Amino acid sequence: MRYIYSMTKKERYQFVLNYFETHVPQAETELIYDNPYQLLVAVILSAQCTDKRVNLTTPAIFEKYPDIPALSTATFDELFPLIRSISYPNNKTKHLIGMANMVMDDFNGEIPITVPELVKLPGVGRKTANVITSVIDHQPNMAVDTHVFRVSARIGLTTNAKTPLQAELQLIKNIPKDKVHIAHHWLILHGRYICVARSPKCGECALRPACKYYQKITAA
Ligand code: SF4
Repeated sequence: MRYIYSMTKKERYQFVLNYFETHVPQAETELIYDNPYQLLVAVILSAQCTDKRVNLTTPAIFEKYPDIPALSTATFDELFPLIRSISYPNNKTKHLIGMANMVMDDFNGEIPITVPELVKLPGVGRKTANVITSVIDHQPNMAVDTHVFRVSARIGLTTNAKTPLQAELQLIKNIPKDKVHIAHHWLILHGRYICVARSPKCGECALRPACKYYQKITAA
């Protein structure tokens, strides 16, 4: 394979997006959900926790609290045992109850699907709001988690980004609006299974021709 070391940033983006579009056309979240309420609960629970573990936890929560009105009536002592097995159960219990109460009080029981409104909810930061709006409504918002941050930097989609917000702004500036929502999943899945944190599996990665990290290690 001939490596195109002198790719411009535009060409690099095009290469990466073309690859994913052709080979991973159906990328989506690995969290299991049926509606915006279930996705919001799952994403709040997923902070510092694997999707796999969250998926083991949510069925019991959704059975007991099938919607926002039901969750808003939960007490800490009732909800806590259902999420005890995931990370930060204390805070997450408080956040879920607080979130449901605020949706009832301030949003007439309807989960808002805009970033500025979502970030007002307890337990919902910019990353979570970006996930909800891009997954539910395909809004061009890029949630930058640890995988997206690492993979984007290695490939060279981002340059000297020091924070998730800096990475987010660089990515949405360069990715066509209609592809941002799926690009988020492409980068996460690539980071989870190929471009893993400790030892990226470059030998089996089709993005090598566009990857700055690979260029650097092979030039050494
Ligand atoms: S070539 Fe290596 S570092 Fe670059 S994206 Fe692929 S796995 Fe990651």
